[in-house]
Amino acid sequence: MQRIGEFQVDRIVETAGPWALLTELLPDLTPALMADHGDWLRPHYVDPAEDRAVMSFHSFVLRTGHHTILIDSCGGNDKERPLRPIWHRQQHPYLARMAAANVHPEQVDYVFCTHLHADHVGWNTQLRDGQWVPTFPNAKYLFHRREYEFWEQAHRAAVAAGAPIPNHGSFGDSVLPIVDAGRAVFVAGDHEITPGIHLEPAYGHTPGACFLHAKSRTAHGVFIGDALHSPAQLGDPSLSSSFCWDRAMSARTRQALCERYADTDTLMFAAHFPAPSVHLWVRHRNGFKIAE
Ligand SMILES: [Zn+2]
Repeated sequence: MQRIGEFQVDRIVETAGPWALLTELLPDLTPALMADHGDWLRPHYVDPAEDRAVMSFHSFVLRTGHHTILIDSCGGNDKERPLRPIWHRQQHPYLARMAAANVHPEQVDYVFCTHLHADHVGWNTQLRDGQWVPTFPNAKYLFHRREYEFWEQAHRAAVAAGAPIPNHGSFGDSVLPIVDAGRAVFVAGDHEITPGIHLEPAYGHTPGACFLHAKSRTAHGVFIGDALHSPAQLGDPSLSSSFCWDRAMSARTRQALCERYADTDTLMFAAHFPAPSVHLWVRHRNGFKIAE
């Protein structure tokens, strides 16, 4: 559990461990990065056996005392993901872990996905009697209109053309059912959810990705989604991932984020960094690193 002033943040893990090879995750990686930053990256953030990125897939639950906000909803159970076998028909005790943090689905007031990739929308829905229904029955699901429209267009174009459905089909099983159930609210990229909590455009990883800022008293936390997938990108913020939609734009967003918050007391909550997944960032050598 982490506090941001009077707010409380809990992390709900779906899976964690060594994942992609760093060279596959970050195609522009050069040996210089690990030469300059390997000493702090290995072994906690980069598994030394094969230099795989150690990653976590988790949600954050932000409780303000008035509202409960779920940030990113992982991959979900039972989803058909044949092109990514480790995500295919997953069965994880995610809701039990949420209950262990004393969060129950009907208590969630807002769901916000930093972007609409398959590993950030999955628990929006769950399978009930063969139908995808909202997991959080009382929540407003906030979608940045720009992000939603991009994936809606991509999804519908692929369906119309009989082409492979993008993003593992997650728009169809984890986003559209929310709209059909009347639980979706479309918002701007700078939307204020409730006092102290607002969005900020962070385009590049996807067309409408956003950060979520949480401020309470003098404390500040930023939920960065996939602006960085691995702390290795702190060493060289120009490194975009193979999952980025516009790698040059993503690099600019990442660089600006690092410049703005390194050497401050702003808490940085990352969607895929290993536990505890919330850190302070500092300048280090020719880039940045996680504070000791
Ligand atoms: Zn992700």
